[in-house]
Amino acid sequence: MTDLQASVVSPRSTSTGETSHGDISNTPTDTQNKAPDLLPTQGAAETANLNVPTPGAAESDSGYNSTVLRDFTQEDELSDVTLLVEGRQLHVHRQYLAEWSPVWRRMFLGGFLEQHARQISLPGKRITEITELLHCIYSSQKPISDENVRFLLDLAEEYQIDRIKQRCENFLITQQSSLEALHLAQKFRLRTLYKRCVEFSKTKSLSELERNPHFSKLSAETKVDVLKAKTEMLNNYANSLAKQETTLSRKCDLLTMERDNMKASLQAIHGIWGVPNKRCYKHVTDKDFTFSCVDCNENVNREIRALCGRGQHLRRYFPPK
Ligand SMILES: [Zn+2]
Repeated sequence: MTDLQASVVSPRSTSTGETSHGDISNTPTDTQNKAPDLLPTQGAAETANLNVPTPGAAESDSGYNSTVLRDFTQEDELSDVTLLVEGRQLHVHRQYLAEWSPVWRRMFLGGFLEQHARQISLPGKRITEITELLHCIYSSQKPISDENVRFLLDLAEEYQIDRIKQRCENFLITQQSSLEALHLAQKFRLRTLYKRCVEFSKTKSLSELERNPHFSKLSAETKVDVLKAKTEMLNNYANSLAKQETTLSRKCDLLTMERDNMKASLQAIHGIWGVPNKRCYKHVTDKDFTFSCVDCNENVNREIRALCGRGQHLRRYFPPK
């Protein structure tokens, strides 16, 4: 059993949206199985001179160069099978496609009739979409976009091309969250995108959700996840409001106390003015307090500061000297 055959056994094992592609990108060491040197590995890239992506470029859209788009309608010296789509032939390489898709792998290397066929018909497929998929997995590594992401997800699901699925998910994560994206995440089991879109959806009102045409496409389980998240969010909000209410109520009590204290202190201060011996010696016998006397004012200020020292709440209005 080679690695090639071993990973055919569990083709679905990495199709859950998790980034676990080690079994695919680490190509078999058995070089006898590597007929056309088109495998997405470092070694292949160096030897094949066919613009094969390096492992780094294989998972990234940054190295895309539209000038290297391959023309699949033309045969090359290494193409060994043709895909027949909408009556047209696309020339491809069994070994390369088999590395990307366990479905193609079984088709090309397993016991299917197609194993030795030079031409494989893909009925019901559109040539533009299959070509786009090939551009995405071949050397050009065409980027995922809003235009191609939906049918690429469909094709990647059908052919179990996990890396394309992952790239589609990575693309969708960079886009604005939406109920449509949530539907795609549910349909294709894209977990990171799913969590992100549930977080987005929980912030929408029930009527907003129901008005959205994509909401009715969601499964009951997904709707439950959204409503659970929404309930949790509202519970947290209610809890934080209750905490705020307690804090505000305490502040309100403190302010009431401060008001009563200030009232009492101001009455005491007012009383000072009526006490003759609080004035300076020049005016100690005067009937009324006189504000024009610096010494009387100094005496009264001293009294007020003493009062404030006893009542912390007044310090902010009459700071101690
Ligand atoms: Zn005086």
